[in-house]
Amino acid sequence: MELSTKTPQPLEKTSYELSQPGRQGVRVPDPDVPLTDIPADLRRTDLDFPEMGELEVVRHFVKLSQLNYSIDKGFYPLGSCTMKYNPKINEDVARLPGFAHVHPLQSQGTTQGALALMYRVQEWLCEISGFDAVSIQPAAGAHGEFAGILMIRKYHIDRGDHKRTKILVPDSAHGTNPATTTMAGLQAIELPSDKNGDVDLDVLRKACEDHKDELAGMMITVPSTLGVFEEHIVDIIDIVHKAGGLMYMDGANMNALLGVAKPGELGFDVMHYNLHKTFSTPHGGGGPGSGPVVCNEKLAPFRPGPVVEIIEEAQDEEDAPLYGWVMPDKSIGRLKAFHGNFGMHVRAYAYISAYGSDLPKVTQYAVLNANYIRARLKGTYLMPFDRMCGHELVIEGHWPDKAPGVHALDISKRLMDYNFHPPTNYFPLIVPEALLIEPTETETKETLDSFIEAMLKIAEEARTDPELLHNAPHITPVKRVDEVKAAKDLVLCCRPTVIETAEPVAK
Ligand SMILES: *Cc1c(COP(=O)(O)O)cnc(C)c1O
Repeated sequence: MELSTKTPQPLEKTSYELSQPGRQGVRVPDPDVPLTDIPADLRRTDLDFPEMGELEVVRHFVKLSQLNYSIDKGFYPLGSCTMKYNPKINEDVARLPGFAHVHPLQSQGTTQGALALMYRVQEWLCEISGFDAVSIQPAAGAHGEFAGILMIRKYHIDRGDHKRTKILVPDSAHGTNPATTTMAGLQAIELPSDKNGDVDLDVLRKACEDHKDELAGMMITVPSTLGVFEEHIVDIIDIVHKAGGLMYMDGANMNALLGVAKPGELGFDVMHYNLHKTFSTPHGGGGPGSGPVVCNEKLAPFRPGPVVEIIEEAQDEEDAPLYGWVMPDKSIGRLKAFHGNFGMHVRAYAYISAYGSDLPKVTQYAVLNANYIRARLKGTYLMPFDRMCGHELVIEGHWPDKAPGVHALDISKRLMDYNFHPPTNYFPLIVPEALLIEPTETETKETLDSFIEAMLKIAEEARTDPELLHNAPHITPVKRVDEVKAAKDLVLCCRPTVIETAEPVAK
């Protein structure tokens, strides 16, 4: 692989630096009505916009957009995030005028097509997960978690059991799990993992015994965020149920289970999906996500709502049923304005229907790709667990003996010089120098091979020329950033006066 570390891309000028007094982006025609003066006290004098022609504006923003790294530009193995390709047909379908222009306040009579689509998405999400009921309202995975934990809480309270306030959470969990628990007014109890990355069953039994009357439930990710399938999951579910708790499955890793295992059939009570992970809807610059929550009969009355139901069955085969909005009778309430992020439901609908009964192939290829990378990096990189992984793998980004001083972050930054997006860094927290790699099913073997080659090359560089890693990235317009300063001293808005203070971040 040829690398130019000598010719970094230039840092783009800001629009203020490009500004020339008197340049105009648009030409406004001469008015055909008399001009009138806006009173001085209504006029803003502090508006200081750059002055540029239209072409300069277009070039400026196109150049900036090309500096952005995206799944459409290259491999994006960010573990736990499932950065799979977002098929363009999803976008075409979501832009059909009937879907794009439908208004949430339209009458049910004029929105039957949209309701039918949401109803089918609901049905499919139940079918794929083995659950009985669903609400597609939550707007993100974390939002779905919040819904699920509130449902568990309300279930206990509804039975008159007010003491159940504790949720067990393995130490490998995503940070949103304990955060959700706390937000819902419950307390998280951390469970240590054993040396294989599974929940320690003895510790679990003891925790269930210690908190017997106070146990609301447990949140667990399957496969876990360590990339491995929890071997004792059925026992875990049984132990928690016997102690009176309910089981929440964090479904962020459903990409490893599609068509292979159904959480509802394993015995879970409730789970969220991330449509922007598993079902290829865009993560889009912090844009809308979707985190539907699915559950069994026990929790169905507590779902957030409203949900789409059939109000009137079809009379005959020619006829369509009448769909409408229904609030589950003991609902935790609304979690989102209107009906959730409908555009994401449309995209997920397009994706699921494109695969149809081939959906298990998504998982088969995702798991195969991750294990291929694992097998080829084994021996060069330290791995905390010597076992098959699911759709992602965790490795240790350090060599304490062979390359002391080299950290996971150095490897990630160096990967940028090879034009790859870095994997997830320092998560899960319990693996030293963790790099969590998730290739997804959408990559070719050639792409996986060139990523592996880069990883092997970097391992060699770590021994022979560690400075290359410490100073990486070399070819990006912004070099190694001070991440603490970048987080603590946010510069969110480009203004002429802020340019100097922005300098140190972009050094
Ligand atoms: C992504 C993720 C979440 C949170 O989902 P968002 O959609 O980002 O809110 C929760 N748990 C796990 C394991 C995840 O990977």
